[in-house]
Amino acid sequence: MAQIIDGKKISQEIKDELREKVGVLKMAGKEATLAVIQVGDDPASGVYVNNKKKACSYIGIRSLSYELPKETTEEELLALIETLNRDERVSGILVQLPLPMQIDEDKIIMAISPKKDVDGFHPENVGRLVIGERGFVSCTPAGIIQLLKRSGIEIAGKNCVVVGRSNIVGKPMALLMLRENATVTVAHSKTQNLKELCRQADILIVAIGKPQFITGEYIKEGAVVIDVGIHRAENGEGGTSKKLCGDVCFDQAEPLASAITPVPGGVGPMTIAMLMNNCVEAMQSES
Ligand code: NDP
Repeated sequence: MAQIIDGKKISQEIKDELREKVGVLKMAGKEATLAVIQVGDDPASGVYVNNKKKACSYIGIRSLSYELPKETTEEELLALIETLNRDERVSGILVQLPLPMQIDEDKIIMAISPKKDVDGFHPENVGRLVIGERGFVSCTPAGIIQLLKRSGIEIAGKNCVVVGRSNIVGKPMALLMLRENATVTVAHSKTQNLKELCRQADILIVAIGKPQFITGEYIKEGAVVIDVGIHRAENGEGGTSKKLCGDVCFDQAEPLASAITPVPGGVGPMTIAMLMNNCVEAMQSES
């Protein structure tokens, strides 16, 4: 029986620690403010933005909300970011992605001051991660490191295979595991012999965006399996069923793994907890 890595519990622990930290900083007259920008009214983005605001309010971070119409131009969004970059009261800026077609996401990411880039997407922060300097780290991979450490899982010296090489999950994940002294292999859609490669992993981290793609055949007995994927199961019973699944076939992986993250309740809750962590760090680095 695998240890089930409880992301809900661990993310709550982190939020409670942050709440305490923020309380102490408030007594010293310091306040964190996160500016959250949403362009358009995509319902999924709306849910993410609301969850982020709720987490801010729990921890004691002030959140400023900018809800812009879907017709907003790139220039208008850049102008707002510039204003927030200059505003000393604002410690962190978050632009909810994806953005409407007329706006170039890369340009927007580049425009956010690296000091307020709590998502950790700015090239300066990515570069800092590459050379091992302090900076904001992308929240999902940072959350996975916390899941592993707080579950007592040894990383140093282990063979880690990261499946997926996106800028927000796979690549920073690989760099963080390297920083923790794992031996890291990154796999992607052009990788040959993916199954054999995955079967060599002591720690297998999967972020490919394909429901239940990783079956038992990809997993070495005793491996730690981290599932980043999140999908609404197509064949959930009932038209309104909200059954979620990951990139890993949990039922096949769990009997083989020594530890595994469930979906939901594994990696998902960690992303917001680490965003909150970055907001608190942004405030601390101001002083
Ligand atoms: P992307 O679509 O940006 O990247 C997917 C990666 O997987 C690419 O590098 C791609 O390779 C690789 N890939 C696709 N198919 C295969 C395959 N058959 N074999 C090997 N590699 C493959 O996805 P993200 O990284 O943004 O997200 C991945 C998943 O994680 C999604 O399900 C997403 O919803 C979820 N997610 C969850 C979060 C959370 O908080 N829990 C946060 C962020 C994402 P190539 O580069 O060659 O195309």
